[in-house]
Amino acid sequence: MSRLPDGVRREVEALLCAGHSDWEVHRRTGAARRTIRCYRMRLGLPVYMAAEDSPACRHGHPFPENVARYPSGGLYCLACAEIRKREYHASNYEPVQPDEVAIERAVAGDPARLTPRERSAAIAQLDAWQLPASVIAERVRCSPRTVHRARSRQRAAV
Ligand SMILES: [Zn+2]
Repeated sequence: MSRLPDGVRREVEALLCAGHSDWEVHRRTGAARRTIRCYRMRLGLPVYMAAEDSPACRHGHPFPENVARYPSGGLYCLACAEIRKREYHASNYEPVQPDEVAIERAVAGDPARLTPRERSAAIAQLDAWQLPASVIAERVRCSPRTVHRARSRQRAAV
């Protein structure tokens, strides 16, 4: 256990005695959490458990506006759940890939349902053959206006 300077130690002990969680004390004083835990044990204070009447969750999100219950009855913090959800989505995000077969079929004149991205890919391939917009529109089953728009978007992107 690392020794804290006297001022910080007194601050940590005061915050722990006031009923704050290790996280909250860490946030306010900058002391390491394992050090704070040692001080908690030395003071004989129980491990911080968030209850419905606590001032905050372990991470300092204010209660009761962040209190929620699992169907089984357990307590959890809405703000923490939102953070975990964001982290999960940030690390699992995968952009949708265009369906190459659908594009090929559209180019061959047998379009399935196309996403906008797939449609403009098919239009780009047909454009390479220098077909008129009306013919392309018929093949991809969209309006000529859609073809013109896709063309100008592609020209702008180059
Ligand atoms: Zn929380």
